[in-house]
Amino acid sequence: MPSKTCASCNHVVDYNYCANCGEKILTPELRSVGHIAGDALENLTSYDGKIWRTLITLFVKPGQLDRNYHIGQRVNYLKPISLFFIINVLFVMFSPLTDFYVAFRDQMQLQPYSDWLKPYMLEVIANKGYEIGDFEEKYNQLVVVLARSLIILQVPFFAIFSFIVLFSRKHYLSDYLIFSLNAHSWWMIWIIVAQVPAWFIGNGLSLICANLSVSYFYFLLLPIGKFIYLSLAIKTLFKFSWLRVLLSVPIMMGLYIVAHYIFRFLQLFITYSLIE
Ligand SMILES: [Zn+2]
Repeated sequence: MPSKTCASCNHVVDYNYCANCGEKILTPELRSVGHIAGDALENLTSYDGKIWRTLITLFVKPGQLDRNYHIGQRVNYLKPISLFFIINVLFVMFSPLTDFYVAFRDQMQLQPYSDWLKPYMLEVIANKGYEIGDFEEKYNQLVVVLARSLIILQVPFFAIFSFIVLFSRKHYLSDYLIFSLNAHSWWMIWIIVAQVPAWFIGNGLSLICANLSVSYFYFLLLPIGKFIYLSLAIKTLFKFSWLRVLLSVPIMMGLYIVAHYIFRFLQLFITYSLIE
């Protein structure tokens, strides 16, 4: 068989595929329109299959995607970063919560860093030549769009905290990053999905006791779900004893809040610098 060279990387090719870069060598048959159409369809459906397989694994077996990545089993699933951004788009469209979006007034008054930062914020507004009311209006318009698209900024902080609390010699730093990415993907879906059980429980129990509202159960289900997810995910990825898992999950939930406040601070900083 005469050897050819790969069109993409110039490596010598002996088979139909390049062993160096994976490029497929084009034959007249592969160039036919029928083949290209079939190939496109196959790509689409296998991508579709991958999305569902990845989403179901994320929800039914918390930590399994993280574990698979750790042992090098990756081709059957979406890349964690792709999964994150697909869910992020859904989250931007469908999230009922404004938790990630912090209005100007709340940034000025309610955050742990508000008192410390307020004089600086006022000074910047004055330097940019704004009346405070006009600035507030501009800020709030911009941050609604911006905030939920910036969630990725929270991921590395939660990864670093995970590395400190869940340290294990058998794991790489990248394992903690994947753990954090998948936890955020799960969390964004849970914020959307938890409305359903909350609606049924809330409306069901309101027949017995009128004081229990749907939103009460929604805000109860959110942290319960997170506790269960983190416990199972840590157990599956790190194979710790249940004692270590149950001791570290409350700490991780606390550190999630810290990561979230760092995110809010960055959100403020970025929105501020984008207003001319
Ligand atoms: Zn090649």
